[in-house]
Amino acid sequence: MVLLFLGASGSGKDTQAEIIALKSSFQPISTGNLLRDLSNGASVVQTYIRKSLNDKFSSDELVYGVLQIYLKYCRGEDFILTGAVRRATQITKLDDILEKIGQKVDFVFNFQISSELAIERLSGRLFCRVCKSNYNLKTKNSKIEDKCDKCGSILSTREDDNPESIKIRLSEFYKYNTEIVEEYSKRGILANIDASRSIEDVAKEIDMHLHKLIHKEDNII
Ligand code: AMP
Repeated sequence: MVLLFLGASGSGKDTQAEIIALKSSFQPISTGNLLRDLSNGASVVQTYIRKSLNDKFSSDELVYGVLQIYLKYCRGEDFILTGAVRRATQITKLDDILEKIGQKVDFVFNFQISSELAIERLSGRLFCRVCKSNYNLKTKNSKIEDKCDKCGSILSTREDDNPESIKIRLSEFYKYNTEIVEEYSKRGILANIDASRSIEDVAKEIDMHLHKLIHKEDNII
């Protein structure tokens, strides 16, 4: 089963994907993380990718080239894609690469949040470069200051969590999101989630939807 999480930076998509992954067979795949991993280094390609992360959204060719390779070699069948669709042109691109591995987008969660709250959350975000866990100084602090609870690595802030880059990313997001949400709504596979609530409350609502989805699949089989 493939779940797609839509939502502005700071809406909590990756945090919720991590929570689901801890208690299920779903693997979180963040296109942002895939690109960040490829951007470490000083080669021309690495520099190009790094620049694209701080600029407007990366090109479809780059994101989908990388995602296609990743999915091809990924084990398992249950994925949560976070941020994989950010422009309407990517809807059919995602359909195509999923079809190649015998999958489709089964359900979409649209994390809704105001830009003011997104900016507030991003200003407190910390990130583990090693295991990709997300933390937040205000809403999800690590047990030991600046250390990842899962792997013990030192936490850092993301290079693109600076006011200028946040502004660009959010304005790009709002430019395209309505069209994307409309398409998945038309397909009847989208749930809107009020992402301004606590991590626990959002997790409970997603659980409820997942329970129904998985139950429906069982009945079909
Ligand atoms: P994230 O970690 O989800 O905040 O993504 C970080 C950055 O990766 C974004 O600001 C984009 O530059 C790039 N990115 C990730 N996914 C996509 C996508 N589907 N389309 C275009 N750019 C993307």
